[in-house]
Amino acid sequence: MYMPSIVDGVKVTDKLIMASRICDSVLVTGSNRGIGLELVRQLADSPLPPVQIFAGCRDPNGPRSQELAQKHHDVITVVQLDTTSPTSIAEASKLVEAKLKGKGLNLIINNAGVNIPGSLVETGKQEMVDVFTTNVVGPMLIAKDFHPLLCKAAAQFPHQTSMSCSRSAIINVSTLLSSIKRCPENFSVSPMYPYRVSKAALNMLTCCLAEDFRKDGILVMSLHPGWVQTEMGGPEAPLTTLESISSMLKVITSLTEKESGTLLDWEGKNIPW
Ligand code: NDP
Repeated sequence: MYMPSIVDGVKVTDKLIMASRICDSVLVTGSNRGIGLELVRQLADSPLPPVQIFAGCRDPNGPRSQELAQKHHDVITVVQLDTTSPTSIAEASKLVEAKLKGKGLNLIINNAGVNIPGSLVETGKQEMVDVFTTNVVGPMLIAKDFHPLLCKAAAQFPHQTSMSCSRSAIINVSTLLSSIKRCPENFSVSPMYPYRVSKAALNMLTCCLAEDFRKDGILVMSLHPGWVQTEMGGPEAPLTTLESISSMLKVITSLTEKESGTLLDWEGKNIPW
């Protein structure tokens, strides 16, 4: 029997996996462009989309958010969320709580991130602090402020001891360049001091949160999306956002407590710390 392997640019196997709902509610940070925007698009367009997708974006009415603003989909709520601002994070958590009407939040994808040219000569205190503030402090404050909503979601599965993204989870979007073990083989190609150091710190945040939140039934892991064609990844990157995100969503769907506190790539392969 003929079975098409690709439909609408997405593999049939991926479509089958997405036929089950990934979770009821999800927050994606930095969702106005690049990987975040494609995450929101694929989640919303899946056969069984989450009931609520909170699309975090630091400037919802700005010129860089036009594409997100045009996504009129019942399940998407655009939320003002600047991950460098504790006030913005706190207000976003209140808004999400109100919209959930007593339910918990199942999944947070900490996707917002920045990179800057980062050789040693180009890097000073300010560059380190700015990148660290977005890539590490933001995800930490988000985990802290949204923790009660994640706990509430986990508690809605009273008979489950296992962890999953449909129950309660945080995915920190990291990178291969965060791996200390792999640094000798890729440092000369992309020195990037602030970015590498910040993402290695993000991985430690993942490990700390995974241990801390285990008692609450919340899964926490780091995920490398691959080298992807976005403003950050550049046009020569081998993966399109469509390819990276359809693969990432397969990995996200399959996560269990075994993967809590790990760093995986978009194909589910383990990356050493
Ligand atoms: P882009 O530069 O294309 O997009 C970055 C996104 O993050 C934008 O939506 C941007 O919003 C948002 N953002 C930045 N700072 C903030 C902030 N303070 N508050 C809220 N949102 C913010 O990058 P990608 O889509 O490529 O990257 C997404 C994630 O994937 C990052 O964490 C990155 O490190 C990671 N990654 C990407 C790779 C790649 O090859 N592309 C490889 C490995 C990891 P705004 O428009 O307002 O600036």
